Amino acid sequence: MALPDVVRKFVRDRAHGYCEYCQSRDDCGTGPFAVEHILPYAHGGSDDPGNLGYACSGCNGHKFTKVVAWDPVSEKHVSLYNPRLEIWNDHFKWDETATMLIGQTPTGRATIVALQMNRVALVNLRGGMVLLGIHPPESNPTITNDK
Ligand SMILES: [Zn+2]
Repeated sequence: MALPDVVRKFVRDRAHGYCEYCQSRDDCGTGPFAVEHILPYAHGGSDDPGNLGYACSGCNGHKFTKVVAWDPVSEKHVSLYNPRLEIWNDHFKWDETATMLIGQTPTGRATIVALQMNRVALVNLRGGMVLLGIHPPESNPTITNDK
């Protein structure tokens, strides 16, 4: 069943229009953003706003029903990043060009790989946004855990 528009607006506004995974802006994206279930329906996730995230079409599509992914460094399956329970800056940072994300934890690394958060089109878009002075966000817009 489709989420009510008021819930979609709440989730979008809570994220300030940024993908809660790759930090893309919904006003500079190449596709529609989605209100996604952090714990998917397939794994028992609910429509509670505490289980909803705002994601670009790329991150949402690559995440699909995944809840764990492979960390290539620790060589273990670990939980994907949860934007409602975890702090983005604890798991991710930008490289010196602000075009590539670097995982800081097993969860950060696994989420970058699973969601393909350094997709070539995204890296190119970030490079253009750096030149425009609109990337990276001055302060991480989605680190609040407001429910
Ligand atoms: Zn994204």
